[in-house]
Amino acid sequence: MSASVPLSSEFVNGDVSFWYRSSGVPAPGPRLDGDLQADVAIVGAGYTGLWTAYYLKRARPSLRVVVLEQEFAGFGASGRNGGWLTGDLAGSHERYGEGARRLQREMYASIDEVIAVCEKESIDCDLVKGGVVNVARTPAQAARLRETVSSARAWGIEEPDLRLVDPSAHVRVAGAVAASWSPHCARIQPAKLAQGLARVVRELGVAVYERTPVTAIAPNRAVTRTGPCRPGT
Ligand SMILES: Cc1cc2nc3c(=O)[nH]c(=O)nc-3n(C[C@H](O)[C@H](O)[C@H](O)COP(=O)(O)OP(=O)(O)OC[C@H]3O[C@@H](n4cnc5c(N)ncnc54)[C@H](O)[C@@H]3O)c2cc1C
Repeated sequence: MSASVPLSSEFVNGDVSFWYRSSGVPAPGPRLDGDLQADVAIVGAGYTGLWTAYYLKRARPSLRVVVLEQEFAGFGASGRNGGWLTGDLAGSHERYGEGARRLQREMYASIDEVIAVCEKESIDCDLVKGGVVNVARTPAQAARLRETVSSARAWGIEEPDLRLVDPSAHVRVAGAVAASWSPHCARIQPAKLAQGLARVVRELGVAVYERTPVTAIAPNRAVTRTGPCRPGT
C-alpha cells in the first residue's frame, strides 16, 4: 500500500471511495451548458457507459457520442468496487446450457480484452493478472470447494480454467486444507480504470459532460437541467 494512503483512524466516512484516497477525487470536467445534438447519448460515466462509448467510437469514428454524468466519471460502483477483474459468472448458471457456457467463455476472454485495451490506450490502472486462489480452512469449506470444481467440470469448465491445487504451493494461509485456482482474474485499481477510460474516450472525440444529471429519458431525447440532448445535424 502506498505511504500516501492515510491510516484507517484518519479516514472520514462519506468520501467517494478508498480508491480515491491516494489519487484524490478528480476535478470534474465540463458540465453541459445548453442543449445538444448527438447520434448517441449515454447516461452515466461508469464502466457500462464508458466502454459503450469506447467501442462505438472505435467502430464508427464519425458517430457523435456524448456521455452525460451527474457527478464525475467513476463516481458510482465503477470507482468503488473490489478491484477484481474476474471472469466468474455470478449465480448458479449450470442449468442454463450452451448459451451460458458461451457467455462464460466470453467472460474469460473479456479479461484479456480489458488488458489489451489498457495496453493499447496506455491506461495505467495497476493491472496484474495473477489468477484467483480460493482457500478452504475447514472440512466443510473443503467439501464445498471440491463440489464447486467438480460441478464446474461437469458443466464444461476444464482443468486449465479451474482446478484443485495444493494450497501451500500458492498461498501462505494458516490452516489451509484445500484450494482451487483459476487463471481468469486480474486485479485493478478500479477508479484509475474509470478515469483512464474517460480520458481515452475524450481523446477519441466523445464529449463527456460531468455534473450533468439527466432528469428524464424519452425516445430520441435525454433531458438535462439545461436542455435536451437529441438527434440532429
Ligand atoms: C462494493 C462493490 C464491490 C464490487 N466489486 C466488484 C469486483 O470486484 N469486480 C467486479 O467485476 N464488479 C464488482 N462490483 C460491480 C461493479 O462495480 C459494477 O457492476 C459496475 O461498476 C457497474 O458499472 P455501471 O457503469 O453500470 O454503473 P456505475 O459505475 O454505478 O455508473 C453509473 C453512473 O451513472 C451516473 N448516474 C446515475 N444516475 C444518473 C443520472 N440521472 N444522470 C446522469 N448520470 C447518472 C452515476 O453517477 C454513475 O457514475 C462491485 C460493486 C460494488 C458496489
